[in-house]
Amino acid sequence: MTERSLLGTFFQSDPDLRLVAADIYLDPSSPRRLAIVSHAHGDHIERHDHFVATPVTAAVVRSRLGASLRGTELSFRHPLELEGHEIELFPAGHVLGSAMTMIRRDGVSLLYTGDFRLRRSWTTEDAEVAEADALIMESTYGSPDWRFPSRDELGARLLALVSDILGSGNVPVLLAYSLGKAQEVCSWLTRHGLRVVVHPSIARINDIYRKHGVDVGPCEVWTRQAGLFAKATTELRGAAVVVPPHIDAEIRRIPRRETISLTGWSLRGGWKTGGDHALPLSDHADFDELIELVERVRPRVVYVTHGSARFARELRDRGFAAEFLKQKPQMRLF
Ligand SMILES: [Zn+2]
Repeated sequence: MTERSLLGTFFQSDPDLRLVAADIYLDPSSPRRLAIVSHAHGDHIERHDHFVATPVTAAVVRSRLGASLRGTELSFRHPLELEGHEIELFPAGHVLGSAMTMIRRDGVSLLYTGDFRLRRSWTTEDAEVAEADALIMESTYGSPDWRFPSRDELGARLLALVSDILGSGNVPVLLAYSLGKAQEVCSWLTRHGLRVVVHPSIARINDIYRKHGVDVGPCEVWTRQAGLFAKATTELRGAAVVVPPHIDAEIRRIPRRETISLTGWSLRGGWKTGGDHALPLSDHADFDELIELVERVRPRVVYVTHGSARFARELRDRGFAAEFLKQKPQMRLF
């Protein structure tokens, strides 16, 4: 089997990615018989008959979709024989437990990145990059316009902004997706001595992080129980509140709030963040990291997903054989 012939013989994109010989899907967008789930963001999880994922991802999937879902928990760097394929997971650095999937069959290796980030985070495993014959990679930020500030710079900007808002007597409300980004800001703010109150959906994920050995700091839970709200709002004074971005009605009930959107798309300002303030905190690779990944994997062919055809052209300009695979667009959470 040559790398050039992998698309169609080793895997298909219909548009879900499928290993042809065994009918195994990679992050499918609808329920399947057998699926490898790279991480537990909402657009990557479904009620499959059986899934394979890391223990953290499995815990989040089950907390979101039901404890009885059948799955195989596969730790990083523990190869598994699965219907004629060898499957091995490596940390992807995107959220805790997120995995890149190495698939080997007939002497050919294929690495599927899922969502990934090479920059270091405050709560996530560092990404590990393995070499492979062929690479299927995300390219969310696949143009040279996207280069994110360092973790330390963003952390300093976040602390300064939160302190300013608190100093003015207002309540900083951080809009952060409940898996990944919320734990990042909880960890960062509490280690700098700030009082942090989180939405219950975030508290549930915080508990999973703690159970798997990651300290996200001592966060209080903002209760939504009837009758407690008036009391809770006075108790929010002096605290930073962390909530998922989609609960507008509840956010509007917080008096004297100033919202901070945490999304990579805010880097270029054109993206309507919906917040009073925005910081480009992203859990995805930026353009330089996308290129760095390809250079480190050293593939003979690259298949680009979740972005635009632009990144495949950027790779071809650099001498890589690359083509763009059309997939369902991701939610713009990041
Ligand atoms: Zn994701």
